[in-house]
Amino acid sequence: EETSEAHNPIAIAETGSQSDLLWDISLRARIDEAMEVGEIYCVYQPKIDLGSKTTVGVEALVRWHDPARGFISPMHFIQQCEKAGRMEHLTRYVLQSACSAGQLLHFRGQNLTMSVNISATLLGDMRIAGIVRNALQATRFDPQFLVLEITETSRISDHSVASSILEELKSTGVKISMDDFGVGSASYEAFYELPFDEIKIDRLFVSNMAKDPKARAIVASIAAMGREARITVVAEGLENPQDIGLLEAIGCQQVQGFAFSRPVSLSNLLESKDIDGMRAAANMV
Ligand code: C2E
Ligand code: MG
Ligand code: MG
Ligand code: MG
Repeated sequence: EETSEAHNPIAIAETGSQSDLLWDISLRARIDEAMEVGEIYCVYQPKIDLGSKTTVGVEALVRWHDPARGFISPMHFIQQCEKAGRMEHLTRYVLQSACSAGQLLHFRGQNLTMSVNISATLLGDMRIAGIVRNALQATRFDPQFLVLEITETSRISDHSVASSILEELKSTGVKISMDDFGVGSASYEAFYELPFDEIKIDRLFVSNMAKDPKARAIVASIAAMGREARITVVAEGLENPQDIGLLEAIGCQQVQGFAFSRPVSLSNLLESKDIDGMRAAANMV
């Protein structure tokens, strides 16, 4: 099967529009195997508390490294995963990996929170609660340290159903976060109707905050809303260390971004309590 390019229909069609379709079909067919053999795995991006300048948690971000083609964009394969009806399976896998990584970090004395991305499409029924409970039981990770980041909240079809599922999840002790706040439709409505403990300001506003007063106003207003509603606010995608002061002035509590650290492997996290980017950032502040 994996012969020369000339005999590989997927490689031949690479330039045509058909290529994408064939490639996507092959991706969909290989998802389960890729998880089994470890081509799909998680990396972890630190989340920094601006007050103490320490890492308070990490976010698990899924990666697929294909031996032949290299890294496949998560946005892309997650979409394929959904088309293949394998989102639940991927989520189960990521939750297991992330909770066992979290448990290992705690065992080593690094008491970090572990954030896992959960697609809003999984909030249509109670199965997600079982998946989360199983991951917690299997790994013995303390639920208080697990944060579920709900992505694509605009795709929640029924807020009252989603709300009761989230309450069920919260009863186990986990925290619920609203990812990418400010982009997509109905963000405020979802924030208002669902029991979030945290909001993450989308990178669009955070990355443009220094040069664009409009973006800065949006970041400041979301931070103010979080304070008023007593909800943790995290700024996503801060790339420039020179913008850290701006976030502090705005009063945002937590931040993630390349300015502090890129996502790193679990072994990288375990190696040092002083995470790479932290040193660089500390010098800049
Ligand atoms: P997200 O949850 O908003 O994650 C943040 C994304 O921004 C990550 O991209 C991260 O690598 C990137 N990022 C972080 N800091 C910076 C920065 O300073 N500059 C720039 N340019 N980018 C930064 P990634 O890993 O490609 O993930 C993209 C999206 O895919 C995630 O957005 C999330 O919605 C989704 N995703 C990732 N892993 C999972 C997963 O396990 N399950 C689900 N359902 N979705 C996932
Ligand atoms: Mg996220
Ligand atoms: Mg996000
Ligand atoms: Mg985002």
